[in-house]
Formats: sequence, structure tokens, C-alpha cells
Amino acid sequence: MQKNLSMFVRRLTHVCSLKPYKETKWLMPNGNPIGVYVYNCVAGQRVPVILNDPHIATWYSCGPTVYDSAHIGHASCYVKLDIVQRILTSFFNIKLVTAMGITDIDDKIIKKAKETNSDFRTVAKQYEHEFWLDLSSLNIEKPLIITRVSDHMNTIESFVQKLVDSEMAYIAGDGSVYFDTDKFPAYGKLEKQQETVESNSTDKRNAMDFAVWKGEKPGEPSWQASWGKGRPGWHIECSAMVSKVFGSQIDFHAGGIDLRFPHHENEEAQSCAFHGTRQWANYWIHVGHLQMKGDTKMSKSLKNTISIPKLLESFSADTFRMACLTSHYRYSIEYSDKVMKTAEDNLKKFKFFLKDAFNYVNDNTKTIGYYNDKLLHELQTAEESILEALKHDFDTAKCVTTLLSLVSSANKLMKTDSSEYYPVPITLIAEFVTSILQKFGLKLHESSEEAVSDSLIDTLVEFRHTVRLNALSRKDKELLNACDIVRDKMKSIKVQINDSNKTPSWVFTK
Ligand SMILES: [Zn+2]
Repeated sequence: MQKNLSMFVRRLTHVCSLKPYKETKWLMPNGNPIGVYVYNCVAGQRVPVILNDPHIATWYSCGPTVYDSAHIGHASCYVKLDIVQRILTSFFNIKLVTAMGITDIDDKIIKKAKETNSDFRTVAKQYEHEFWLDLSSLNIEKPLIITRVSDHMNTIESFVQKLVDSEMAYIAGDGSVYFDTDKFPAYGKLEKQQETVESNSTDKRNAMDFAVWKGEKPGEPSWQASWGKGRPGWHIECSAMVSKVFGSQIDFHAGGIDLRFPHHENEEAQSCAFHGTRQWANYWIHVGHLQMKGDTKMSKSLKNTISIPKLLESFSADTFRMACLTSHYRYSIEYSDKVMKTAEDNLKKFKFFLKDAFNYVNDNTKTIGYYNDKLLHELQTAEESILEALKHDFDTAKCVTTLLSLVSSANKLMKTDSSEYYPVPITLIAEFVTSILQKFGLKLHESSEEAVSDSLIDTLVEFRHTVRLNALSRKDKELLNACDIVRDKMKSIKVQINDSNKTPSWVFTK
């Protein structure tokens, strides 16, 4: 304890003696440790998660540039981030304030608008709408706050202006504004740069400088800033929008591993410069890629993408999530028949166990129940092991292995041909398995089952509608009364029918 304290004081003294912007190491935040350790690329190792308020954390994810349909590479990134968020919320009792930025103005969007003879806003709106539908079909929680670049031009302009005023950025001849990396010695703290980036602009002072504002190009959308017309650079958008929402520091900042450099590096540099701080994002969460077989990255430029609706034609959202759970969030995940088959098999093992457990516990032929200390002990060990795995960089793969082993032991006990009957440990294990999997965001019921139930309700509602119209025209009170009874019965099972339109509609009210 004393050793830790003296180390802490030494570190604090070291930090205080530094000049602003020079800190290239990770700084331990002040506050309340929540018992979780997460890998941080600035520290190059796992570091403790320390929050200002032990139950509140801020989280920003870089969202998509909405110029095309999302593919399963995006799906794996957002499913994995959703899992990490759910772990913080459900296992560690953290209220997460989540935000996501949507890049709705960009070269690719402008290109798409030109190709489709459309307006950039229409293109962006269409693909953003599609993106949220995709996320919902994968059971990904929508962020609580959504920030769109085109809605935040004033915020971004003020951000750039402050960088210019403090001489951390400079205005080039073509009206573009560049961040001056020479003024920020900590540049490269997320990813050490060995090679010099080739300058693609003669207006830059240094090759590493990056545009925070792009000067106006003829025929392209632009916004008026005090130094001239143009539009924001990609990196500045996130910094300005995060600062607007969360202020001078953020707990978690997340995105795919490809965003670490230059996007997140640049975000960190300009945000530290803007706020006059040494550390802006305390925890960088970088998700590994989804690879096609043979280590090929899935990308639009390689034309090997699979859309999310196409994925869901072959596999359920639960199966895809199970595949994501069995690969650590930081590591790449291979999309192959073998990986998906394993995920499907694992999911089936859990589902069959839950059904078998229910039937076993409700077996009317049994007369007396017993405890089973060995199985109860195994359950307790599994509970502890899962919490430990999650505390150490959200190791969901280990959790799945632990749960499968527990299920295997429970299955063995249920299948033992014995007069002994163990409803208590089997019920507890079934409850535990359900609770953990649901906390990871699995729905645990087949989408085909959902489709069948929806279709049955549709059929019933349509049939009732036809009967009701007929009864109304014949003024058949008895039949109308029967229709009302059906409506009320449906309401009692949380299906509310709306008769007021020409075509009847219904919703689940749960
Ligand atoms: Zn970003």
C-alpha cells in the first residue's frame, strides 16, 4: 500500500512538472476505480478504469460516413461495442451516456450525390436511416445522443477558430486550415509514427499536419466561416461534437482499430490543444476487424462486402452476436462457414439446455427434490470466473467457454438415470445462463419464431377485420360483440389492435 502511494506521488510530481501538450504517456485519471481493467493503446497495457462519478461514464463512438449501405465489417464493430457497453451497464452498474457522430458531409457523399443526380443531404439521410435499421436488426442499442456534422457547423467553426487564435492551427493559401503538429510534441501518443507521412498539399507546413477545415471547392457544398468558405475536415467533427456534449474530457472513446491512426490521434491532439489539457480521452476502445477467410479485410474498395440484411438471411442476429462474443473485442474475427457454424452450435447448446431444464424441473413424475452441492459449487465458481474475465478487458470468449462447461455439467446431471431429482441447481443454472446471455444482448428466441407469431397475429387481425366489417354492414350486434371480445383478449396478451383505419394495424404494447 505504502509502495503504491509513493509511486503515485512520484508519478503525480512527474506529471505536474510537464509542460502542456508534451505528455505522451497515459495519465491515470482522478476518481473512483470501478474494478475493471481495459487495454489502452497510449499506455500499451491494461489500465484501471477510474471514473469521476463511480456510476456515470461518458462514451463516444465514431459513427459511419453515410454514403453507402453498411456491411458485416461494420456490424461486427458495432455489435462488439454494444457488448462492451452492455457489460459496463449490466455487470458494473455504470450509467453510460452514449453518443455517436454521423458524418453526413464528406467527399464520398458528394460523389454519390453527383452519381445519383441527388443532393448530399438526401444521400446522407437515406443511408443514415438504413444504418439505424441495420443496427436495430442486430439488437444494437441506439446511442442516447446522435450528433450530425451538418447540424454542428457553428460548433465546429468555433473549435477551429480557437485553434487558429491560439496558433495551434494555421490558415493556408487555399482557405484550408491545418493543425500544426509541430506545436504539439505529444503527437503520436496513440500510435508511434516511424515513417513520415507524405505531404499531399503544398500548403502544409509539415507533412504530418492535417486539415481541420477544407477550403471551398467549386460546385461543392460549403459553409461560411470567419476565414472563408469551406467545410470541416473529418477529424475535427468528432472533437468538436464530443466537446459540445461532454466538455473537456471523455471517459470512453471507441471505434474500429483502423481509426486509431490518424483519426483518433488527430482527435486527441486537437482536443488537448483546444481544451489546454494533457489527456482528452481517458480510455480508447479499439475493435479488431472482421476478416474474410485468408486474412482479407472486408471493404468496399475490395468489393467483397456482405450487407447486413444478406447476413441475416443466413444467420440470426443472435448467431452473429455469439460469433462476436467468442472473439475478444480487440482481436480480428474471421467470417467463415466454420466460425458461423460454431457460433450456431454454441447457441443451440444453450437453447436446448434451457428447454431441457424447463422440462426437467417441471417433470410431474418426480416426487422429491434434492440439492447437489457439487453443481451448486460449480455454479458459484462460474459466477466468479465470469466476473473476473469481464473485469479484465471484457473477455467474453472466456465467459462463453465457462458457460458451456457449466451447461455440460448440468446436462450430465439431468441425463443421469437416477431416482434423484435436482430442480434447485438446474433452475439456478438455467436462470444464470439466461441472465448472462441476455446481458450480452442475446434475445434467445429464434427470429423464425418471431416471424411465425407475427404472421399468426396478422392473420387473426385481418380475419377479425373482415368479420367486423361484415357485421357492421349487417348491424349484427352479436358478431360485433364477439369481435370486441377478441380485441380485449388480444389486449390482455399485449397486442393492441387499432380499428380506426381502413386497414387494421396492431402493436405489441410490452
Ligand atoms: Zn471520430
